[in-house]
Amino acid sequence: MRLVNAAGRLGLLTERGVVDVASASGGRFSADPQGVYGRWAEFTAWAAELPQSDVTPLDDQSLGSPCPRPRQVFAIGLNYVDHAEEAGLPTSATSMVVFTKFPTSITGPVGDIELPAGSVDFETELVVVIGKPAHKVGVEGAWGHVAGLTLGQDLSERELQLRPPNPQFSLGKSFPGFGPTGPVLATIDEFADPDDVEISCLLNGEQMQRGRTSNMIFSVPRIIAELSATLPLLPGDVIFTGTPAGIGWARDPRVLLRPGDVLTTTADVIGTMNHRFVPA
Ligand code: ZN
Repeated sequence: MRLVNAAGRLGLLTERGVVDVASASGGRFSADPQGVYGRWAEFTAWAAELPQSDVTPLDDQSLGSPCPRPRQVFAIGLNYVDHAEEAGLPTSATSMVVFTKFPTSITGPVGDIELPAGSVDFETELVVVIGKPAHKVGVEGAWGHVAGLTLGQDLSERELQLRPPNPQFSLGKSFPGFGPTGPVLATIDEFADPDDVEISCLLNGEQMQRGRTSNMIFSVPRIIAELSATLPLLPGDVIFTGTPAGIGWARDPRVLLRPGDVLTTTADVIGTMNHRFVPA
């Protein structure tokens, strides 16, 4: 099953077009895309039995984030060996790096993003959305707490992120628009192997990053187990799972996002996001 936020309304993406969930369910489910995660089991049971319904054509340009207002947003740092090497930082197989992107940074899979002052960079990432509360869950059962997967950019203003003497990871990654996500939320059964998803990005048509989530140091189930050992993960929460090599800041010369740049971000099954950067 693939879900979309079509002009602010929850939609089921089918081969024929988009089914409006609120209309097709006679109002049983809200049009609010964020609301569905709190009733995930009930919703998926209903969707599996859905009879032939009216559809509208998918309008790519109207898409919003499939998880527009999460209560908690987690991000994992240094989760790919090749990225840790380019950053000149050590990796650990036992100690996971966690920070937040504040929820107001979330935006959709298309459109313009304002560049604040400083040095703004891209980080292509698989994004997990929680569908069932998770507290102190083990690795084995962790996928059962996931509603589905989407794609994200963990946009980062490097100067604030790394500013001495007190680096500000969470603030540097939380300017408005710094958490683009989408274009769809794909359930786990849509993937040949949900632990091995290819993610990539192009800047102005030139490939910058290409990686597979099977190379993550902390897999999705391990991330959920580690986070939920400390606190409960809530339906609709979002986890950015880390970026592979190829970020702009680690290049020689450095590549920073400039007004007019176009960033194209793609993942298996989930699809493609398109963003243009504009002056603040
Ligand atoms: Zn990141």
